[in-house]
Amino acid sequence: MPRRALEEFFRGLGEKPYRAKQVMKWIYHAGITDFDAMTDISKALRGRLREVAAIQAPAFTLAGHAADDVMKWRVETESGQAVETVLIPDRERSEAGARRNTLCVSSQVGCALDCSFCATGKQGFSGNLSRAEIVGQVWQASRKMAAQGNQRGVTNVVFMGMGEPLLNFEPVMDAAEVLMDDLAFGISKRRVTVSTAGVVPGIYALAERNDVSLAVSLHAASDELRDQLVPINRKYPIAKLLAACRHYLASVGDRRAVTFEYTLIEGVNDSVEDARNLALLLGDLRCKINLIPFNPFPDDVHNYRRPSPARVGAFQTCLLKAGLAAMLRATRGDQIKAACGQLTGNVRDRTRRRARYLAVREVAA
Ligand code: SAH
Repeated sequence: MPRRALEEFFRGLGEKPYRAKQVMKWIYHAGITDFDAMTDISKALRGRLREVAAIQAPAFTLAGHAADDVMKWRVETESGQAVETVLIPDRERSEAGARRNTLCVSSQVGCALDCSFCATGKQGFSGNLSRAEIVGQVWQASRKMAAQGNQRGVTNVVFMGMGEPLLNFEPVMDAAEVLMDDLAFGISKRRVTVSTAGVVPGIYALAERNDVSLAVSLHAASDELRDQLVPINRKYPIAKLLAACRHYLASVGDRRAVTFEYTLIEGVNDSVEDARNLALLLGDLRCKINLIPFNPFPDDVHNYRRPSPARVGAFQTCLLKAGLAAMLRATRGDQIKAACGQLTGNVRDRTRRRARYLAVREVAA
């Protein structure tokens, strides 16, 4: 629970709200999940807490450890399924001298949006993760890192794992609040990023609700192409999406930028002409562009390919020449299927999409 909800919880038990602070410190700073070990809380209250509450992180098992220390964990959900969480430690110190440990968390079991180039979507969709299952991913990863002697812990969290975070709004916002709370993980708002495929009402709601940073998966500069790649574009086309981004920028009020993710797929959206159109589209928006060379996955029925480094370079150069901050996201963790768009877990599809894809793949073969 976020701090305020936890204070309410203690009020409901007839206790003082400062109990919330005590319990949060035990859970997040000391890593304690047993009420009996919380020695500054009376025995009677500890007994009561054991009856009415539980502190439980989801079970975590290592699902891959790449040579460059990218790690993937399988996270068991309460519903008996599994999602995935990925740790991406910086290989080098950044300009500011700090080494980041970025954790990529999942927000849903599967995904309902079905972007054409994403493995998660092909698994179909089962449901939402709870806020505890979201916070639990960060808690567990921090414990695992501490056990390996990595004291810095998780420095950045991106909601870029499985699922569409803005379609699981309240649990994601509550979880983000816990991540940013000094009594918990104390991660700054610039280091907690929610990434959306373009759920426009969610962007407006986010601007009201929370301080987190925003990333938007754009992938195309025209509605015609984006309709094909990111089907939710048919509901919320690019003009509406960018209007929501402008609203977000105006309401956070600081000098923050929106990050636009752009997965480069050979012959689909990676020409210099595409780059030019993208530059025209985003020219006056305070933004950064994150270019992601396509990561292949087994269920791909389109035979998408990653463009050559030369093509990627030409695309980036065009954006840079236009004055846009365009960065290339290094491909990390693809040997262990932990790169962008490769997370699958174990999803009981309730949409029949998975079955449909397997049928299409048969026909294609
Ligand atoms: N659903 C949210 C969170 C996922 S973020 C969103 O769409 O933003 C994961 C990022 O990886 C998104 O930008 C997504 O479009 C991108 N991605 C998905 N599949 C990919 C693939 N096969 N190769 C490279 N990037 C991919």
